Amino acid sequence: MMRGGRVAVVGGSVAGCAAALAAHRGGADEITVYERAAGDLAERGVGLAVHDARYAELESAGFLDAGMAWVRMTRRRWYVRDGATAAPLGREIAEMPFPFRTYNWGPLWQELRGRVPGSVVFRAGTPVEALRLGADGVRVETAAGAERFDLVIGADGYRSTVRAAAFGDVRPAYAGYLAWRGAFPEDRLADPAPWPREVCAYVVFPGGHLIVYRIPDGSGGRRVNWVLYTTPPPDLDLGLGLDLRLTGPTSLPPGGLTEALTAHLRHVADDLLPPYWGALLHATAPAERFLQPMYDFAAPHCTAGRVLLVGDAAAVARPHTGAGAVKALQDATALESCLAAADTWEKALAAYDGDRAPSGRAMVDLGRALGDALVLATPDWRAMDQAALETWWRRADGAGAFGGRRLRTP
Ligand SMILES: Cc1cc2nc3c(=O)[nH]c(=O)nc-3n(C[C@H](O)[C@H](O)[C@H](O)COP(=O)(O)OP(=O)(O)OC[C@H]3O[C@@H](n4cnc5c(N)ncnc54)[C@H](O)[C@@H]3O)c2cc1C
Repeated sequence: MMRGGRVAVVGGSVAGCAAALAAHRGGADEITVYERAAGDLAERGVGLAVHDARYAELESAGFLDAGMAWVRMTRRRWYVRDGATAAPLGREIAEMPFPFRTYNWGPLWQELRGRVPGSVVFRAGTPVEALRLGADGVRVETAAGAERFDLVIGADGYRSTVRAAAFGDVRPAYAGYLAWRGAFPEDRLADPAPWPREVCAYVVFPGGHLIVYRIPDGSGGRRVNWVLYTTPPPDLDLGLGLDLRLTGPTSLPPGGLTEALTAHLRHVADDLLPPYWGALLHATAPAERFLQPMYDFAAPHCTAGRVLLVGDAAAVARPHTGAGAVKALQDATALESCLAAADTWEKALAAYDGDRAPSGRAMVDLGRALGDALVLATPDWRAMDQAALETWWRRADGAGAFGGRRLRTP
């Protein structure tokens, strides 16, 4: 087992907190987390879903806590707006098992943050500005000065500064469509009865779909959480003030939608979704929704010299995979095992890359395949029934990694 050493973690979100915990358990002596945001990250997120099997692995590895509030999902129902039925929820095309637990991102992050041992120095409000890579260490530069570390872990998300320092200008590619996210208190639902609590709804339309499930609200109640994927009309002003294909990733904060985007959202709600689901979009206040362009990215490797990447810095798969946070936590689990099993940094880093690089690429490929099936080249939903949808889904999910790949046991 590795013992000792100084480790810096850049980014203190899900991957960063988990990586700090992994480095601690893996035997590192001194650990510093640099987080750009000064405020509490927990104020920001919405919902996420974790497959039951992936949850069990991560709980036993000590990276998820059974005590956190969650909502049990058991079934996924597929609905389509279909002139042949006047049902407010639309026509139910199919029902499939959906063994997932849903979480509120904020409390999940807070729980992970709480697990980071007190001996770890957590520097909030401290962006890392540059890195100087050496053969046996890395200097981390912030406005306050520079410090040397034996290992730097890049947990700084899809626009990673650490990755840029190690691999140069390798950037996520815009996938050509958008995800809107929104969440609001469950008691705002006009009629909760037709939509059972354990049902995750996939509401499909030509060129996209809406996913809706309930999540804990962090104080004993629940929120309705939705994600809407659509391809914006080509002439639509995204209001992002830049060309996504040229400049790389960005996202719009809550309340930041332009009038053109808001009109597009209204069109989807009123003309493409069955009324029950369209009403949920209308029930979401501007400050409760935000926009996230879709990207694909896998770094060529997850390690370079004494730099190691975790979470979105290493690979960004489209959220159709249902595994963004899971992948970040799996990266940390693998990091802990690699540190614990190796007696040099070099061996630990090589073992980590051998496990996580192929895994990241596989999830990115799955995200692309699901994006094609669910958004860019949608089938004729109205012509589908239970059997047709099941066949179509098996083809789209390929190796069956929806919800995340199985964690490799050391
Ligand atoms: C505030 C917030 C809310 C989110 N909410 C959701 C959600 O509701 N549902 C969901 O599915 N996913 C959400 N995500 C994304 C989700 O956390 C990731 O997709 C996934 O879990 C991987 O996380 P990550 O830690 O690798 O990346 P991220 O969560 O993107 O975290 C990267 C972190 O690095 C920090 N950082 C970036 N550059 C620097 C730098 N130069 N120096 C220091 N720090 C830096 C950022 O401030 C950020 O905290 C959210 C992310 C954030 C930051």
